Amino acid sequence: MSSPETNPSPLAAPVSSVWGVGEERAKLLARLDIFTVEDLLLHKPRRYEDRRKFLAIRDLKVKEAATVRGTIVAAGIKRFKKGTRSMFECVFEDGTARLHCRWWQAQSWMPDWYTVGREFLIYGKLDDDKKPRTFTHPETELVEPGDDEFIHVNRIVPVHPLTEGLTARVVRSLIWRALERFEGEIKEPAIALDLKLHPTRANAVRMIHFPAELTDVVIARQRLALDEFVVLQTQIQARRKKFEAQSKALPCSGDNRLMKPFLAQLGFKLTEAQTKVLREIRADMGGAHPMRRLLQGDVGSGKTAVAACSALMALEGGFNVALMAPTEILAEQHFRNFSKWFEPLGVKVEMQTGSRKSGEDGGWRMEDGEGNDRAGKHSTSNIQRSTLTIGTHALLTGGFELARLGLVIIDEQHKFGVTQRETLVRKGNYPHLLVMTATPIPRTLGLTLYGDLDVSVIDELPGGRGAIKTFVRTTAKLPKVFDFIREKIAGGRQAYIVYPRVEVADTDKDIKAVNKEFPNVQKALGPFKAGLLHGQIKPADKEAVMADFRANKIQALVATSLIEVGVDVPNATVMLIENAEHFGLAQLHQLRGRIGRGAHESFCILISDALHPEALARLKIMEETNDGFKIAEADLKLRGPGELLGQEQSGAMKLRFGDLTEDLNLIRQARDLAAGALK
Ligand code: ADP
Ligand code: MG
Repeated sequence: MSSPETNPSPLAAPVSSVWGVGEERAKLLARLDIFTVEDLLLHKPRRYEDRRKFLAIRDLKVKEAATVRGTIVAAGIKRFKKGTRSMFECVFEDGTARLHCRWWQAQSWMPDWYTVGREFLIYGKLDDDKKPRTFTHPETELVEPGDDEFIHVNRIVPVHPLTEGLTARVVRSLIWRALERFEGEIKEPAIALDLKLHPTRANAVRMIHFPAELTDVVIARQRLALDEFVVLQTQIQARRKKFEAQSKALPCSGDNRLMKPFLAQLGFKLTEAQTKVLREIRADMGGAHPMRRLLQGDVGSGKTAVAACSALMALEGGFNVALMAPTEILAEQHFRNFSKWFEPLGVKVEMQTGSRKSGEDGGWRMEDGEGNDRAGKHSTSNIQRSTLTIGTHALLTGGFELARLGLVIIDEQHKFGVTQRETLVRKGNYPHLLVMTATPIPRTLGLTLYGDLDVSVIDELPGGRGAIKTFVRTTAKLPKVFDFIREKIAGGRQAYIVYPRVEVADTDKDIKAVNKEFPNVQKALGPFKAGLLHGQIKPADKEAVMADFRANKIQALVATSLIEVGVDVPNATVMLIENAEHFGLAQLHQLRGRIGRGAHESFCILISDALHPEALARLKIMEETNDGFKIAEADLKLRGPGELLGQEQSGAMKLRFGDLTEDLNLIRQARDLAAGALK
């Protein structure tokens, strides 16, 4: 592609170079994000109107829009009392009957335009079945001798997204003019497409606005979407190439000397899926370029054990490891597990959160061992001193340093932004990176948003898990539901009870809050004990409640969605979520992932009185499937990618024609085209 500085495309010219766009209109167009000629040409129609149906005036029917052709036989302005309202009316005649057309608030140009003897095409529908036959505010277009091409009538007409002060007609006219003048400047992109399979880009642009048939729209959209995806894939792949050229991998594939005893004491055998993923990770960590890998595994699939094994590989190589989690509760849980697993192996495990740092000196600096030993010689003392630091966002702060950082692991990565990921990685010298997520990423997003990461999937849950049953119920059923929970608790199990809010908000009293409901739950479940957990509780108290819950000193945990990520208490088998309509699908699935972790059968009860069809659709999907992948795809369809991507990630993905909910095939084609071109 030619660089825009040296050889700007005429399409990059300001939109004011289209005839009819003055300062005023340019301002209005800017509101539609249209600044250049190209922006205007790529302004995607919102819908189409088929105005090809042609009728004689005599044959017009009420409520059936049609185009007629008529000559003006009379025209004039009518004024009403006090002169505040006026109407312009003209009468058309086509040899079969007469048609009155009227426009409220006559415009000064109308009498000069609609003059007796002029012929027009008129598109509209009859107001009613009374005589005279009347159209109010029809769309018209002058018939000019020798020109039988119409923009606004007698064709499939585009209706574009508009803004106040810009009518559909104006936008359509501007695009028509822009096409007339600039169509020849719409060039094929540098990475050429097979024109046996696709229209040229220029044709596609014309077809998207002025299709001969509606099927043209489909063909044109695909072509334009493919162009977008090719640009995107080229960027992603070029970034990756550059990264690989700049960086050299630290030798972190390990020698099993910590791994062996670790696996022996773990208490379970890794699933095949976990083993397969670990093979991929080991290959990366011994490869030429630093690992950039996304580990995707549904809730409960055992990502933590994979993280532990990966950490050991780096630790065996004499490198330090950092593990970042999005909440203190989860960081504490990891700290406890990893300490239990790693301390017997002689690996130091430290904790860095906003409220707590472990380690004798309480310092922010990780021990430096034998200096920056990038070769990673395996001296025993090195291994002894290797450290795993676990933390929250606190790991990102400037004061925190990590020497000999070999591997960065980010748990629940969807809770972090790309910049945060990069901040942590930059604390080392091109360390390996493993990001983990339980939010299954639809393939379309995997290839775009996460296109610069390799993806591993744990596609199997550990065996011996009880099934999860999900029910949607109304609040009227709550007493029964609590009876059910008591019964389960009496049988030795535990329960989570989740509400959307901490406090009841004045504005929306119907949304339940933990602080208000906690005493009610205590009463309903007594003599069994309930604990309270939400974001405003002091970290030490949070940890105490979690410890009691883990030890089954508390049987029910009343909480906000704070517990959605990572919390692992296998004896908890009931998840009750009130005002379930207030949670997104992904969030509901995450919450449900807190149960079904042990051998007992589990129950998820979603309470909602919602009537909104989208909310009902969401809850129904929860009832129908436990498959996180299906849920993510449904979520993408229901809410669009913006919500799913979250954070700044969605901003990078402004597509005009591409549709991340359904364009997997196009994205794949684009990836292959980009890869072929970058070879
Ligand atoms: P997630 O993928 O959601 O992070 P965890 O790593 O928390 O899941 O694992 C869920 C539970 O499954 C934990 O209690 C863990 O000890 C257990 N687990 C992990 N791997 C296995 C396995 N291979 N066999 C049996 N249990 C396992
Ligand atoms: Mg986890």
